[in-house]
Amino acid sequence: MKLTVKPLKQKDAGRGLAAIDRQAMAEMELENGDYIIIKGDSGRTVARVWPGYPEDKGKGIVRIDGRLRKETGTGIDDTVTVEKADVQPATAVTVALPQNLRVRGNVGPMIRQNLSGQAVTQGQTVPVSFGLGPLSSMSGQQIPLKIAETEPSGTVVITDSTEVEISEQPAEQLSEETAEERETPDVTYEDIGGLDDELEQVREMIELPMRHPELFQQLGIEPPKGVLLHGPPGTGKTLMARAVANEIDAYFTDISGPEIMSKYYGESEEQLREVFDEASENSPAVIFIDEIDSIAPKRGETSGDVERRVVAQLLSLMDGLEERGQVIVIGATNRVDAIDPALRRGGRFDREIEVGVPDKEGRKEILQVHTRGMPLVDGIDLDQYAESTHGFVGADIAQLSKEAAMNALRRIRPELDLEEDEIDAETLEKLQVTEEDFKQAMKG
Ligand code: ADP
Repeated sequence: MKLTVKPLKQKDAGRGLAAIDRQAMAEMELENGDYIIIKGDSGRTVARVWPGYPEDKGKGIVRIDGRLRKETGTGIDDTVTVEKADVQPATAVTVALPQNLRVRGNVGPMIRQNLSGQAVTQGQTVPVSFGLGPLSSMSGQQIPLKIAETEPSGTVVITDSTEVEISEQPAEQLSEETAEERETPDVTYEDIGGLDDELEQVREMIELPMRHPELFQQLGIEPPKGVLLHGPPGTGKTLMARAVANEIDAYFTDISGPEIMSKYYGESEEQLREVFDEASENSPAVIFIDEIDSIAPKRGETSGDVERRVVAQLLSLMDGLEERGQVIVIGATNRVDAIDPALRRGGRFDREIEVGVPDKEGRKEILQVHTRGMPLVDGIDLDQYAESTHGFVGADIAQLSKEAAMNALRRIRPELDLEEDEIDAETLEKLQVTEEDFKQAMKG
């Protein structure tokens, strides 16, 4: 059956789920917990069926997260073929942990519990959320595990009786990714909370033209070359730029305005040119310019000779971009009125998206993103923290969640012995983030 791909809600991401509209489920005679093969244009994956959100009923929708979209080579609104899959239970799987996580003792049972019910295939990277989350550098995020081997081979389901072993080699050694690719963690739309409308605009202005330039050609409209994201710091502008680049598999490069301006005479323009050249060579590409107001302040305000030349260079580089729309420049600023108007004219940064401070619903989604990888005690009520964090932006909520996790860590710290470079699995199992940890973090 053919279904249209949509994103999952933030809280449901990272568990290998496919939320299928209930009518389509009935037509395919699928039940909650069945497994399906999802085939996209350039890939396929196996997921576990989960009844879709009530509002999806009858719309022919399958919701999958960024990882599954990547595995099927699809983006939002693409069509996939879905059919029931017959997958065998795994008798054993070997998983590889990221290099920076060294655990002593047996974390196998914890991983099994976390992945129970998920379908996996050798070579796949799957996220897990357990005590390791707060300990990793990606606080609050899930830990990427690599499936090194499965018994039997093929796609198998991890069950309560699957033996989970830890590979001697870290995940990085089993992967062909370059160091650079690993450096930028894959940000997906499910990692962004409270910006649904803004993301819709990002998708329309950036994703659609980059994925379907032919559509725009046929209609005779020029795809945008530049989009300006504006709003207070820490609201997710950089995050959105990274996510859209990742979703369309585009090359991503970022520079900041002040960084460019700090170069010696003449070097600023040179550096800008290099960034554009590099992006063109690696297209499709997204160039992200943070704090663009510092390069291009309104003429006559503080602007001097250097600014004038850099703005002229930026304008000419943008004008020189091919019209097929395979390179797009995303500028971010928290002072949109302070920008040189020449930059906001047709053919340059002529689209704007305002990224505001999140409301209560938004704050809850952001909390869900940042606690997804944490071992939260059951029944912890995120609503009250969404309620009591009025005025917080995404970055503040990320910080709050991190602090709560740190509080949990401090509690077991005497047993943890952080001097050692390995963490004890048994201690890890006790790590839980409680209501009290959040309360303390709020007092901050
Ligand atoms: P900006 O570019 O608007 O200054 P960033 O995108 O750099 O803000 O946000 C900084 C960090 O704050 C992000 O890496 C993320 O952890 C968190 N964050 C900010 N906004 C959001 C959001 N809307 N959803 C989830 N996390 C967010």
